[in-house]
Amino acid sequence: METTGRFAPSPSGRMHLGNVLCALLSWLSARQQGGRYLLRIEDLDAMRCPRAFAMQIMDDLRWLGLDWDGEVLWQSERAAVYEHYAAILREKGLLYPCFCSRAALHAASAPHLSDGRVVYAGTCRTLTTAQIAEKRCARPPATRVRVPDEEIVFEDGVCGTYRERLAAECGDFIIRRSDGVFAYQLAVVVDDALSGVTEVVRGSDLLASSPRQIWLYRQLGFVPPRFIHIPLLCDHDGRRLSKRDADLDLGLLRECFTPEQLIGALACAAGLTETAAPLPADALVDGFSWDSIPRRALYLPNVFRHVK
Ligand code: GLU
Repeated sequence: METTGRFAPSPSGRMHLGNVLCALLSWLSARQQGGRYLLRIEDLDAMRCPRAFAMQIMDDLRWLGLDWDGEVLWQSERAAVYEHYAAILREKGLLYPCFCSRAALHAASAPHLSDGRVVYAGTCRTLTTAQIAEKRCARPPATRVRVPDEEIVFEDGVCGTYRERLAAECGDFIIRRSDGVFAYQLAVVVDDALSGVTEVVRGSDLLASSPRQIWLYRQLGFVPPRFIHIPLLCDHDGRRLSKRDADLDLGLLRECFTPEQLIGALACAAGLTETAAPLPADALVDGFSWDSIPRRALYLPNVFRHVK
């Protein structure tokens, strides 16, 4: 089967180096296998994702020498598609309205896992029709999907075997917010499945989302893709880079480096090359292999030490 990879950025700001690494590795993997590579803009929350940010991401990808095939998919235009698949879950009796406030969900009394994640306590799981009607007058509900007491196990391309007991370690999860915006978990599954994506490459911060997504794939009659979660990029102090603090975003980096310098430095950080010598992305395609990517956090090469 032909490989189809994708890059699926959320355009809530400028790409930072971690996003660039994800774009580079997902592109290299798809192209090395002679496969297709798609671009999807994850602008579900259109208020937080102005089009200008998405246009900037496309410009940045072109500048980096990373191309994509076919039309760009915009999640903000696909609510009707998500509605169709939500209806399938509803017909299976898997959905229910949830009226819990954010504060109630994160209260100290809510079940927390050792890593701080909150497990949904199931508060709204068994509301009666009368209770639902009464609560609806006070506030619009989010929509949750009822998960079974089932363990999901999959083999990640970099992280190895990953397992999660859905009910105990995640609980029923939201597929539509109370403001009507569909949640990432549903949209990502529907879009990857309908686009024929066979390989999902993304940061390891999304590793724990995969069991929920694999379960949704099965509920909707889709075959899950291969998942590859890449190590996060850390700065010299071991701190994860994030978009929020605008660490080393492409606005700044494009002023200081050529695309070849950036690609060369990231390739070296990812173990693809021995030195950070500048080189274009397509020079890395033939020799690309996931075997070279370390399982530990990746450290920024020294060339970035003096930027800022
Ligand atoms: N939109 C997500 C992000 O930018 C990535 C989602 C995914 O690759 O599944 O972090």
